[in-house]
Amino acid sequence: MFKIAVAGTGYVGLVAGVCFAEIGHQVTCVDIDENKVNLMKSGISPIYETGLEELMQKNYAAGRLDYTTDYREAYRDADAIFIGVGTPEQPDGSANLSYIATVVRQIAETIEKDCLVVVKSTVPVGTNDKVEQFIQDFLVNDVKVEVASNPEFLAQGSAVKDTLEAARIIIGTESKWAEELLMKIYEPFNLPIVSVNRRSAEMIKYASNDFLALKISYMNDIANLCELVGADIQDVAQGMSFDERIGSKFLNAGIGYGGSCFPKDTKALEYLAKQHGYALRTIKAAIDVNDDQKTMLYKKASKRLITFNGLKVAVLGLTFKPGTDDLREAPSLENVPLLLEQGADIYAYDPVGADNFAKVYPEGKNGRGTITYVDNVEAALDNANVCFIFTEWGEIKAVAPETYKKCMRTPLVFDGRNIYAIEAMKEAGVEYHSIGREAVQ
Ligand code: NAD
Repeated sequence: MFKIAVAGTGYVGLVAGVCFAEIGHQVTCVDIDENKVNLMKSGISPIYETGLEELMQKNYAAGRLDYTTDYREAYRDADAIFIGVGTPEQPDGSANLSYIATVVRQIAETIEKDCLVVVKSTVPVGTNDKVEQFIQDFLVNDVKVEVASNPEFLAQGSAVKDTLEAARIIIGTESKWAEELLMKIYEPFNLPIVSVNRRSAEMIKYASNDFLALKISYMNDIANLCELVGADIQDVAQGMSFDERIGSKFLNAGIGYGGSCFPKDTKALEYLAKQHGYALRTIKAAIDVNDDQKTMLYKKASKRLITFNGLKVAVLGLTFKPGTDDLREAPSLENVPLLLEQGADIYAYDPVGADNFAKVYPEGKNGRGTITYVDNVEAALDNANVCFIFTEWGEIKAVAPETYKKCMRTPLVFDGRNIYAIEAMKEAGVEYHSIGREAVQ
């Protein structure tokens, strides 16, 4: 059992902290947000993740997990401190490392015993070297500190499962001491561990995420071509998926990737390459395709309708993907303002994301249009002129094609996630436009 502190209780930090407690370590999670800490202490998760709250309550009750804003208390005598604070994108595409720098300085000024600092946040290659130097520069007590890279690969919506059953754990270290300590901490998970040097570990994270983003953009690019030449992207993807070299995952065409990782991690790697005088053309292409794809549905709908002014527009799904309440870089955030600008009256439904969306677009008048949040699909569709599907939530996929015909004033659907079979929409008499497939007129 090790004494572990975790800095940052977002998707990465909180899930890591809870899972470390679950395998028997003594964990203190630190956050600067007092409201979050109070919520967590009362057993409530500040983020929506399946199974997380149960594990929080169980491990808190067992005395293995605690939360605090007092970083000194948590870092002082920790064996290892995991950093999971944000590294958001800056306007030039580079990663903002200021949150990391703050934590690192706090660590340097507080630790009183030998300690391994483990960077879980996604950081540009070479950052861990700088973190180690920074700690040495600010270190107050005479203790040994080393820095290890341990990038996180969880996907929001399945974060707990992805951590407890991770495909691999990547550790990047520069000494036997750090490698062995990190291996021991992870031993109870009983998962494959890949041990490399720090810079390779940092690169594995970006190379993995950006490869997935590239795969999505590639399929979207092919989908757009499918529409022009009369092929069906879903049939194409299915045919491709039998080839083990390609695999069957991440072949769904749609309205582009969003979330807190793919958009920023593609831009950060492109930026890093530029800094080294290298043009990373594949990733640049992935970014360009995605930028266009996010408003593909809106562009299609604008060709079909004279205006959205005064139309009742049903919006199904707001979050960047199902299973999360996260809206960061969600396609809805690109499309809704365009619709509002045009004077649309939007009725939006999302099983968990509406509250967060209402923080950006409050209910009522927004510019020329209005937005109303409803708590079921039928209420959004009721008497609507047009419907947009932005997120493939189970609740939305379960809506029968006839429901559009029955509820809407005109059954006109723009589906950014290809959730319906073309034949089913034809049979139901719904005008249906999706991505990379024949339009049902
Ligand atoms: P997040 O924004 O959800 O959470 C960050 C948390 O850190 C916030 O709660 C914030 O209050 C806290 N914080 C800020 N400064 C602090 C400080 N000085 N001390 C303690 N807490 C502090 O971030 P996230 O989505 O969990 O991402 C964190 C990192 O992990 C990023 O680098 C991200 O790229 C990477 N990552 C994210 C995911 C994901 O799916 N979200 C997956 C893999 C990797």
